[in-house]
Amino acid sequence: MSVMRSALLAISENRWMRERGPRFWFVRRAVRQFMPGEQFADMLRAAAGLRPLGIDAVFTRLGENVTDAAEASAVTRHYLEALDAVASEGIRCEPSIKLTQLGLDLGKDAAYANLRVLAERSQATRTYLWIDMEQSSYVDVTLELTTRLKAEFPRIGVCLQAYLYRTHDDLKALLDRGIGVRLVKGAYKEAADVAYPVKADVDENFFRLSVAMLEGLGLTNGFRPVFGTHDVGLIARIRAHAERAGLAARDVEVHMLYGIQRAEQARLVKNGAVVKVLIAYGSYWFPWYMRRLAERPANVWFVLRSIFT
Ligand SMILES: Cc1cc2nc3c(=O)[nH]c(=O)nc-3n(C[C@H](O)[C@H](O)[C@H](O)COP(=O)(O)OP(=O)(O)OC[C@H]3O[C@@H](n4cnc5c(N)ncnc54)[C@H](O)[C@@H]3O)c2cc1C
Repeated sequence: MSVMRSALLAISENRWMRERGPRFWFVRRAVRQFMPGEQFADMLRAAAGLRPLGIDAVFTRLGENVTDAAEASAVTRHYLEALDAVASEGIRCEPSIKLTQLGLDLGKDAAYANLRVLAERSQATRTYLWIDMEQSSYVDVTLELTTRLKAEFPRIGVCLQAYLYRTHDDLKALLDRGIGVRLVKGAYKEAADVAYPVKADVDENFFRLSVAMLEGLGLTNGFRPVFGTHDVGLIARIRAHAERAGLAARDVEVHMLYGIQRAEQARLVKNGAVVKVLIAYGSYWFPWYMRRLAERPANVWFVLRSIFT
Protein backbone atom coordinates (compact mmCIF):
# COMPACT_ATOMS: atom_id res chain seq x y z
CA MET A 1 0.00 0.00 0.00
CA SER A 2 1.44 3.39 -0.95
CA VAL A 3 2.38 5.77 1.85
CA MET A 4 -0.13 8.35 0.58
CA ARG A 5 -2.99 5.82 0.41
CA SER A 6 -2.12 4.56 3.88
CA ALA A 7 -2.02 8.11 5.29
CA LEU A 8 -5.36 9.05 3.72
CA LEU A 9 -7.03 5.90 5.08
CA ALA A 10 -5.60 6.63 8.53
CA ILE A 11 -7.02 10.19 8.32
CA SER A 12 -10.41 8.76 7.30
CA GLU A 13 -10.54 6.81 10.60
CA ASN A 14 -9.20 9.58 12.82
CA ARG A 15 -11.90 11.03 15.06
CA TRP A 16 -10.27 14.49 15.34
CA MET A 17 -9.99 14.80 11.56
CA ARG A 18 -13.51 13.43 11.03
CA GLU A 19 -14.81 16.35 13.09
CA ARG A 20 -12.54 19.12 11.81
CA GLY A 21 -11.75 18.11 8.21
CA PRO A 22 -15.11 19.22 6.75
CA ARG A 23 -14.57 22.76 8.10
CA PHE A 24 -11.81 23.50 5.57
CA TRP A 25 -13.35 25.43 2.67
CA PHE A 26 -11.09 23.84 0.07
CA VAL A 27 -12.08 20.34 1.21
CA ARG A 28 -15.76 21.31 1.03
CA ARG A 29 -15.23 22.63 -2.48
CA ALA A 30 -13.25 19.60 -3.67
CA VAL A 31 -15.79 17.02 -2.43
CA ARG A 32 -18.26 18.34 -5.02
CA GLN A 33 -16.41 16.28 -7.63
CA PHE A 34 -17.96 13.15 -6.09
CA MET A 35 -21.11 14.46 -4.44
CA PRO A 36 -23.81 16.62 -6.07
CA GLY A 37 -24.83 18.07 -2.69
CA GLU A 38 -25.66 17.28 0.93
CA GLN A 39 -29.44 17.03 0.54
CA PHE A 40 -31.63 14.17 -0.71
CA ALA A 41 -33.02 16.65 -3.27
CA ASP A 42 -29.48 17.09 -4.67
CA MET A 43 -29.30 13.33 -5.18
CA LEU A 44 -32.69 13.30 -6.95
CA ARG A 45 -31.57 16.11 -9.26
CA ALA A 46 -28.36 14.25 -10.15
CA ALA A 47 -30.34 11.03 -10.72
CA ALA A 48 -32.68 12.88 -13.08
CA GLY A 49 -29.64 14.10 -15.02
CA LEU A 50 -28.48 10.52 -15.54
CA ARG A 51 -31.82 9.19 -16.80
CA PRO A 52 -31.47 10.52 -20.39
CA LEU A 53 -28.20 8.55 -20.60
CA GLY A 54 -30.03 5.32 -19.72
CA ILE A 55 -28.43 5.22 -16.26
CA ASP A 56 -30.37 4.62 -13.04
CA ALA A 57 -29.14 5.55 -9.58
CA VAL A 58 -28.27 3.85 -6.34
CA PHE A 59 -28.39 6.25 -3.39
CA THR A 60 -26.71 6.42 -0.04
CA ARG A 61 -26.91 8.94 2.78
CA LEU A 62 -23.39 9.18 4.13
CA GLY A 63 -22.78 8.18 7.71
CA GLU A 64 -21.08 5.41 9.66
CA ASN A 65 -20.34 4.17 13.18
CA VAL A 66 -23.44 5.73 14.69
CA THR A 67 -23.38 5.03 18.45
CA ASP A 68 -26.54 6.86 19.45
CA ALA A 69 -29.79 4.85 19.15
CA ALA A 70 -31.84 8.00 18.48
CA GLU A 71 -29.54 8.93 15.59
CA ALA A 72 -29.77 5.41 14.11
CA SER A 73 -33.58 5.69 14.29
CA ALA A 74 -33.43 9.08 12.56
CA VAL A 75 -31.33 7.55 9.76
CA THR A 76 -33.90 4.79 9.40
CA ARG A 77 -36.73 7.33 9.21
CA HIS A 78 -34.82 9.25 6.57
CA TYR A 79 -34.48 6.14 4.39
CA LEU A 80 -38.18 5.34 4.85
CA GLU A 81 -39.09 8.82 3.61
CA ALA A 82 -36.58 8.52 0.78
CA LEU A 83 -38.08 5.17 -0.31
CA ASP A 84 -41.57 6.70 -0.29
CA ALA A 85 -40.40 9.75 -2.27
CA VAL A 86 -38.66 7.62 -4.88
CA ALA A 87 -41.74 5.40 -5.25
CA SER A 88 -44.22 8.26 -5.45
CA GLU A 89 -42.16 10.10 -8.07
CA GLY A 90 -41.69 6.89 -10.06
CA ILE A 91 -37.87 7.20 -10.09
CA ARG A 92 -35.83 4.01 -10.39
CA CYS A 93 -33.41 4.34 -7.45
CA GLU A 94 -32.07 1.66 -5.12
CA PRO A 95 -30.78 2.42 -1.59
CA SER A 96 -27.40 1.20 -0.36
CA ILE A 97 -27.00 1.19 3.39
CA LYS A 98 -24.20 0.84 5.92
CA LEU A 99 -25.11 -1.29 8.93
CA THR A 100 -22.96 0.81 11.29
CA GLN A 101 -25.15 3.76 10.29
CA LEU A 102 -28.17 1.78 11.51
CA GLY A 103 -26.54 1.22 14.90
CA LEU A 104 -24.48 -1.95 14.46
CA ASP A 105 -21.92 -0.71 16.99
CA LEU A 106 -24.76 -0.64 19.57
CA GLY A 107 -25.49 -4.32 18.96
CA LYS A 108 -26.65 -6.46 16.07
CA ASP A 109 -30.25 -6.69 17.27
CA ALA A 110 -30.59 -2.91 17.26
CA ALA A 111 -29.20 -2.67 13.73
CA TYR A 112 -31.32 -5.58 12.50
CA ALA A 113 -34.51 -4.02 13.83
CA ASN A 114 -33.80 -0.87 11.75
CA LEU A 115 -32.69 -2.88 8.74
CA ARG A 116 -35.83 -5.01 8.79
CA VAL A 117 -38.05 -1.93 8.79
CA LEU A 118 -36.22 -0.66 5.71
CA ALA A 119 -36.42 -4.05 3.98
CA GLU A 120 -40.17 -4.18 4.61
CA ARG A 121 -40.67 -0.75 3.01
CA SER A 122 -38.29 -1.38 0.12
CA GLN A 123 -40.03 -4.65 -0.74
CA ALA A 124 -43.43 -2.95 -0.50
CA THR A 125 -42.20 -0.41 -3.06
CA ARG A 126 -40.57 -3.22 -5.11
CA THR A 127 -37.14 -1.68 -4.62
CA TYR A 128 -33.95 -3.71 -4.35
CA LEU A 129 -32.07 -3.10 -1.08
CA TRP A 130 -28.27 -3.07 -1.06
CA ILE A 131 -26.12 -3.44 2.05
CA ASP A 132 -22.61 -1.97 1.96
CA MET A 133 -19.57 -3.80 3.29
CA GLU A 134 -17.38 -1.99 5.83
CA GLN A 135 -14.11 -2.95 7.59
CA SER A 136 -13.22 -6.67 7.75
CA SER A 137 -14.24 -6.86 11.44
CA TYR A 138 -17.86 -6.30 10.28
CA VAL A 139 -17.96 -8.91 7.51
CA ASP A 140 -19.28 -11.85 9.59
CA VAL A 141 -22.08 -9.87 11.19
CA THR A 142 -23.00 -8.13 7.91
CA LEU A 143 -23.35 -11.46 6.13
CA GLU A 144 -25.25 -12.94 9.08
CA LEU A 145 -27.81 -10.12 9.08
CA THR A 146 -28.07 -10.11 5.28
CA THR A 147 -28.80 -13.84 5.27
CA ARG A 148 -31.41 -13.41 7.99
CA LEU A 149 -33.06 -10.65 5.98
CA LYS A 150 -33.06 -12.65 2.76
CA ALA A 151 -35.01 -15.43 4.50
CA GLU A 152 -37.91 -12.95 4.70
CA PHE A 153 -37.47 -10.62 1.74
CA PRO A 154 -36.57 -11.45 -1.87
CA ARG A 155 -34.77 -8.38 -3.26
CA ILE A 156 -31.67 -8.19 -1.09
CA GLY A 157 -28.03 -7.73 -2.11
CA VAL A 158 -24.76 -7.16 -0.28
CA CYS A 159 -21.34 -5.86 -1.20
CA LEU A 160 -18.33 -8.21 -1.20
CA GLN A 161 -14.70 -7.05 -1.34
CA ALA A 162 -12.23 -8.72 -3.70
CA TYR A 163 -9.24 -7.74 -1.52
CA LEU A 164 -10.29 -10.16 1.25
CA TYR A 165 -8.96 -13.74 1.07
CA ARG A 166 -12.26 -15.05 2.48
CA THR A 167 -14.47 -13.60 -0.27
CA HIS A 168 -14.41 -16.69 -2.48
CA ASP A 169 -16.11 -18.74 0.28
CA ASP A 170 -18.51 -15.92 1.17
CA LEU A 171 -19.55 -15.61 -2.46
CA LYS A 172 -20.39 -19.29 -2.66
CA ALA A 173 -22.70 -19.05 0.38
CA LEU A 174 -24.49 -16.01 -1.09
CA LEU A 175 -24.86 -17.62 -4.53
CA ASP A 176 -26.49 -20.66 -2.93
CA ARG A 177 -29.04 -18.43 -1.19
CA GLY A 178 -29.78 -16.17 -4.19
CA ILE A 179 -28.51 -13.07 -2.40
CA GLY A 180 -27.37 -10.38 -4.86
CA VAL A 181 -23.69 -9.47 -4.80
CA ARG A 182 -22.08 -6.16 -5.70
CA LEU A 183 -18.41 -7.00 -6.02
CA VAL A 184 -15.92 -4.19 -5.30
CA LYS A 185 -12.17 -4.15 -4.74
CA GLY A 186 -12.43 -2.84 -1.14
CA ALA A 187 -11.88 0.64 0.27
CA TYR A 188 -10.54 0.21 3.82
CA LYS A 189 -7.14 -0.19 5.46
CA GLU A 190 -6.72 -3.92 6.04
CA ALA A 191 -3.85 -6.06 7.34
CA ALA A 192 -1.98 -8.48 5.06
CA ASP A 193 -3.30 -11.48 7.02
CA VAL A 194 -6.88 -10.75 5.88
CA ALA A 195 -6.45 -8.92 2.55
CA TYR A 196 -4.20 -9.10 -0.50
CA PRO A 197 -1.60 -6.35 -0.01
CA VAL A 198 -0.69 -6.15 -3.71
CA LYS A 199 -3.16 -4.42 -6.05
CA ALA A 200 -2.47 -6.74 -8.99
CA ASP A 201 -3.59 -9.69 -6.82
CA VAL A 202 -6.79 -7.87 -5.86
CA ASP A 203 -7.52 -7.19 -9.55
CA GLU A 204 -6.94 -10.84 -10.46
CA ASN A 205 -9.12 -12.04 -7.59
CA PHE A 206 -11.84 -9.62 -8.74
CA PHE A 207 -11.80 -11.25 -12.16
CA ARG A 208 -11.88 -14.79 -10.74
CA LEU A 209 -14.84 -13.90 -8.50
CA SER A 210 -16.58 -12.21 -11.45
CA VAL A 211 -16.39 -15.43 -13.46
CA ALA A 212 -18.07 -17.31 -10.59
CA MET A 213 -20.72 -14.57 -10.35
CA LEU A 214 -21.54 -14.79 -14.04
CA GLU A 215 -21.95 -18.55 -13.65
CA GLY A 216 -24.47 -17.73 -10.91
CA LEU A 217 -26.74 -16.25 -13.58
CA GLY A 218 -27.61 -19.84 -14.47
CA LEU A 219 -29.19 -20.33 -11.03
CA THR A 220 -32.92 -19.91 -10.69
CA ASN A 221 -32.83 -18.49 -7.17
CA GLY A 222 -32.76 -14.79 -8.16
CA PHE A 223 -29.01 -14.26 -7.75
CA ARG A 224 -28.03 -10.82 -9.12
CA PRO A 225 -24.38 -10.15 -10.00
CA VAL A 226 -23.16 -6.55 -10.02
CA PHE A 227 -19.64 -5.35 -10.74
CA GLY A 228 -18.82 -2.19 -8.74
CA THR A 229 -15.68 -0.85 -10.36
CA HIS A 230 -14.27 1.96 -12.52
CA ASP A 231 -11.50 -0.28 -13.84
CA VAL A 232 -12.05 -0.10 -17.60
CA GLY A 233 -9.65 -2.96 -18.41
CA LEU A 234 -11.24 -5.24 -15.85
CA ILE A 235 -14.75 -4.47 -17.09
CA ALA A 236 -13.63 -5.25 -20.67
CA ARG A 237 -12.25 -8.61 -19.48
CA ILE A 238 -15.49 -9.45 -17.66
CA ARG A 239 -17.60 -8.47 -20.69
CA ALA A 240 -15.40 -10.54 -23.02
CA HIS A 241 -15.74 -13.53 -20.70
CA ALA A 242 -19.53 -13.09 -20.57
CA GLU A 243 -19.68 -13.00 -24.36
CA ARG A 244 -17.60 -16.19 -24.65
CA ALA A 245 -19.96 -17.82 -22.14
CA GLY A 246 -22.91 -16.97 -24.41
CA LEU A 247 -24.37 -14.31 -22.12
CA ALA A 248 -26.04 -11.12 -23.35
CA ALA A 249 -24.39 -7.70 -22.98
CA ARG A 250 -27.20 -6.76 -20.54
CA ASP A 251 -26.16 -9.58 -18.21
CA VAL A 252 -23.15 -7.51 -17.17
CA GLU A 253 -24.35 -4.89 -14.69
CA VAL A 254 -21.78 -2.30 -13.70
CA HIS A 255 -22.13 0.18 -10.83
CA MET A 256 -19.86 3.20 -10.55
CA LEU A 257 -19.62 6.17 -8.22
CA TYR A 258 -20.99 9.59 -9.16
CA GLY A 259 -18.36 11.76 -10.81
CA ILE A 260 -15.95 8.96 -11.77
CA GLN A 261 -15.49 7.65 -15.35
CA ARG A 262 -18.54 9.50 -16.73
CA ALA A 263 -17.55 8.92 -20.38
CA GLU A 264 -17.04 5.23 -19.72
CA GLN A 265 -20.48 4.97 -18.10
CA ALA A 266 -22.13 6.33 -21.27
CA ARG A 267 -19.97 4.14 -23.51
CA LEU A 268 -20.94 1.00 -21.59
CA VAL A 269 -24.65 1.81 -21.90
CA LYS A 270 -24.21 2.32 -25.65
CA ASN A 271 -22.56 -1.11 -25.82
CA GLY A 272 -25.51 -2.77 -24.13
CA ALA A 273 -24.37 -3.10 -20.51
CA VAL A 274 -26.60 -2.13 -17.59
CA VAL A 275 -25.02 0.77 -15.69
CA LYS A 276 -26.06 2.35 -12.41
CA VAL A 277 -24.37 5.19 -10.58
CA LEU A 278 -24.15 5.36 -6.81
CA ILE A 279 -24.93 8.91 -5.67
CA ALA A 280 -23.95 9.86 -2.13
CA TYR A 281 -25.30 12.83 -0.16
CA GLY A 282 -25.45 13.98 3.45
CA SER A 283 -23.33 16.09 5.76
CA TYR A 284 -21.13 13.30 7.17
CA TRP A 285 -18.97 12.96 4.08
CA PHE A 286 -15.41 13.39 5.38
CA PRO A 287 -14.28 9.75 5.96
CA TRP A 288 -16.01 8.66 2.75
CA TYR A 289 -14.26 11.45 0.82
CA MET A 290 -10.87 10.49 2.27
CA ARG A 291 -11.43 6.95 0.97
CA ARG A 292 -12.14 8.41 -2.51
CA LEU A 293 -8.84 10.33 -2.31
CA ALA A 294 -7.02 7.19 -1.19
CA GLU A 295 -8.31 5.29 -4.23
CA ARG A 296 -6.55 7.77 -6.46
CA PRO A 297 -3.98 9.81 -4.53
CA ALA A 298 -3.59 12.03 -7.66
CA ASN A 299 -6.93 13.51 -6.52
CA VAL A 300 -5.06 15.15 -3.64
CA TRP A 301 -3.35 17.43 -6.19
CA PHE A 302 -6.78 18.60 -7.37
CA VAL A 303 -7.57 19.58 -3.78
CA LEU A 304 -4.26 21.40 -3.34
CA ARG A 305 -4.58 23.12 -6.71
CA SER A 306 -8.09 24.28 -5.85
CA ILE A 307 -6.62 26.29 -2.94
CA PHE A 308 -4.75 28.47 -5.40
CA THR A 309 -7.33 28.75 -8.20
C1 LIG B 1 -20.94 1.29 -6.73
C2 LIG B 1 -19.81 1.13 -5.75
C3 LIG B 1 -20.08 0.76 -4.45
C4 LIG B 1 -19.04 0.58 -3.55
N1 LIG B 1 -19.31 0.11 -2.29
C5 LIG B 1 -18.28 -0.23 -1.48
C6 LIG B 1 -18.51 -0.89 -0.24
O1 LIG B 1 -19.67 -1.14 0.16
N2 LIG B 1 -17.43 -1.24 0.50
C7 LIG B 1 -16.13 -0.99 0.09
O2 LIG B 1 -15.19 -1.38 0.79
N3 LIG B 1 -15.90 -0.33 -1.05
C8 LIG B 1 -16.92 0.05 -1.85
N4 LIG B 1 -16.66 0.69 -3.03
C9 LIG B 1 -15.31 1.23 -3.31
C10 LIG B 1 -14.38 0.15 -3.90
O3 LIG B 1 -14.02 -0.78 -2.93
C11 LIG B 1 -13.09 0.78 -4.48
O4 LIG B 1 -12.39 1.39 -3.45
C12 LIG B 1 -13.32 1.79 -5.58
O5 LIG B 1 -14.35 1.39 -6.44
C13 LIG B 1 -12.02 1.99 -6.41
O6 LIG B 1 -11.65 0.80 -7.03
P1 LIG B 1 -11.87 0.48 -8.59
O7 LIG B 1 -12.56 -0.84 -8.69
O8 LIG B 1 -12.55 1.59 -9.26
O9 LIG B 1 -10.45 0.21 -9.17
P2 LIG B 1 -9.10 1.06 -9.18
O10 LIG B 1 -8.08 0.16 -9.74
O11 LIG B 1 -8.86 1.66 -7.84
O12 LIG B 1 -9.42 2.22 -10.19
C14 LIG B 1 -9.54 2.01 -11.58
C15 LIG B 1 -9.57 3.35 -12.27
O13 LIG B 1 -10.77 4.04 -11.91
C16 LIG B 1 -10.53 5.41 -11.66
N5 LIG B 1 -10.80 5.70 -10.24
C17 LIG B 1 -10.98 4.83 -9.24
N6 LIG B 1 -11.24 5.45 -8.08
C18 LIG B 1 -11.21 6.76 -8.36
C19 LIG B 1 -11.39 7.94 -7.58
N7 LIG B 1 -11.67 7.89 -6.27
N8 LIG B 1 -11.26 9.14 -8.21
C20 LIG B 1 -11.00 9.22 -9.52
N9 LIG B 1 -10.83 8.14 -10.32
C21 LIG B 1 -10.92 6.93 -9.75
C22 LIG B 1 -9.06 5.67 -12.02
O14 LIG B 1 -9.01 6.02 -13.36
C23 LIG B 1 -8.44 4.30 -11.82
O15 LIG B 1 -7.29 4.12 -12.57
C24 LIG B 1 -17.69 0.86 -3.95
C25 LIG B 1 -17.44 1.25 -5.27
C26 LIG B 1 -18.47 1.37 -6.16
C27 LIG B 1 -18.14 1.76 -7.57
